[in-house]
Amino acid sequence: MGLYRCGQCDKEVELTMSDPIRCPFCGFKILFKTRQKVVKRVKAR
Ligand SMILES: [Zn+2]
Repeated sequence: MGLYRCGQCDKEVELTMSDPIRCPFCGFKILFKTRQKVVKRVKAR
């Protein structure tokens, strides 16, 4: 699923499809999706 950041302890958590949405470090259940690097491609005309 990707990388998430815990809303409480601010650690990065990597979740897979089978994992529950829960921080493995502190048990907090609110995780924020971390910003992923998006490469913007702009077509130059
Ligand atoms: Zn946590």
